[in-house]
Amino acid sequence: MNILVINAGSSSLKYQLINMNGEIVLAKGNCERIGIGGKFTHKTHDGRVLSKEVEMQDHTAAFAVVKNALLSGEGKVINDLSEVAAIGHRIVQGGYKYDRSVLVTQQVIDDIDDLAELAPLHNKAHVQGINAATAAFGKEVPQVVVFDTAFHQTMPPKAYMFGVPYEYYEKYKIRRYGFHGTSHRYVSARCLELIGNPEGKDTRIISCHLGNGSSIAALKDGKVIDTTMGLTPLDGFMMGTRSGGIDPSVVSFIMDKEGFNPKEMDDVLNKKSGMLGISGVSSDDRDIAQAIEDGNQRAKLAWDMRTYEIIKYIGGYIAALGGIDAIIFTAGIGENQSFLRQEILESLGYRGVKVDMDKNNVRGQEAEITTPDSTVRGFVIPTNEELVIARDTMNIISGN
Ligand code: AMP
Repeated sequence: MNILVINAGSSSLKYQLINMNGEIVLAKGNCERIGIGGKFTHKTHDGRVLSKEVEMQDHTAAFAVVKNALLSGEGKVINDLSEVAAIGHRIVQGGYKYDRSVLVTQQVIDDIDDLAELAPLHNKAHVQGINAATAAFGKEVPQVVVFDTAFHQTMPPKAYMFGVPYEYYEKYKIRRYGFHGTSHRYVSARCLELIGNPEGKDTRIISCHLGNGSSIAALKDGKVIDTTMGLTPLDGFMMGTRSGGIDPSVVSFIMDKEGFNPKEMDDVLNKKSGMLGISGVSSDDRDIAQAIEDGNQRAKLAWDMRTYEIIKYIGGYIAALGGIDAIIFTAGIGENQSFLRQEILESLGYRGVKVDMDKNNVRGQEAEITTPDSTVRGFVIPTNEELVIARDTMNIISGN
C-alpha cells in the first residue's frame, strides 16, 4: 500500500510517497514558490533527480505537477493513480478539538479553517492542500489529517493555561497548545523501546526537538505533561529567527517606540529575532558555528543564550517530572550538533549524567550518547514525522 504524505505551506508543498510494505520512500520532493513563479524538485528511491522551474499558480497546480512526476517521465514511480491508497496531511494547529489523527470530512476541513485564527500562516495553506489533493486525486482517495498539536493534548490545565484573564481562554481559547507533537511522539516512542519499556510506565523523559524551530517536551509515563511552545510556535527558547519567550512588556515597549502595528511586531518576533537577531549573522546553526570559530562575539552570545535557556527549561522539567530517566535529541540541530548536546548533558553533571564523547560524535544517526554508568540515558534519535503521518493514515483507512 502506498501513502502520499503532504506538508502544504503557504507557498510550498512537500511530499513523500511511501510504500508501507517495508516503509520505503518511493519518491519525495518539494514545490516551492507557489504563486510567485515555481520551483520543483523530485527524487526517487533509486536516485533519479528532477529539478526544474515550473509555473505553479496555486496548490492545485502544484498537485498536478506532483501527480505527473509520480506517474510519468523521468521521475515515474507508479503506473496508475489507483496505486495511491490514501493521502495523509500534516496540520499544524488542531486546537483543543483534536487529540488524534482523523479521516478528512467536510466538518474536519471547516474546523481546520476555523482554527486558522490560531495559526494563520499554516492552517489556511493546509485547507488549500486538502482541497487541491481532492481536485487532483478525486474524492475516492481517502485523506487523513495528523495534527502537530495532538500529542500535547494530555497536558493538564495548570501547564497549558496562561496567567491572563480567564475570559480570554473562554472567548478565544487562548492557551498553550504546543507543536512538533508528531516528532516528539515518534522519538519518545522509539526512546521507550530503546529503554525496554514500550508502555512507558513510570518513565520520565525529556524530548528536545532542536531545529530551525525548536521545542522541548516533558513526558511522564509516555505522555506529555508540558512543552515549551505555546499558543503559537513562538514560545519557548531562542530559535533560528524566533525570539522564544521574553518579558511580554518588551512587545508593547518596542511597538510604542518603533511605531509598529501588531503584524509588524509579529514579523520582528518570528522572522528577525532568535539566533539571527542576536548574532546578526544567520539563522542557520552551521553559519553561527562558523562565525564563532571566526571569533564573532555576537554569534557566541546567541549560542550561549540559547544553551542557557535550554538548560533552564530542562532543569524546570526535571523538577516538574520529579526526576529524569532519559533525554532525547532530534531534528537538524539535535541530530547533528554534538557540541550543543555535550553542553546540555554536561550541565546535568551534578545529577550524575556522563557523556560518552566518542558516541556523541554522531551525526543524523540513532545512538546512545551517555556512558553505561550515567544516571540518565541520552539518545540521538532521528525524527521521521512523515512516517508517523503515513502510519496513522494507513491505520485509519484500514479501520484500526
Ligand atoms: P530542521 O529545522 O530540523 O531542518 O533543522 C535546521 C537546522 O539544523 C539549521 O539550523 C541547520 O544549520 C541545522 N543543521 C542541519 N544539518 C546540520 C549539520 N550537519 N551540522 C550542524 N547543524 C546542522
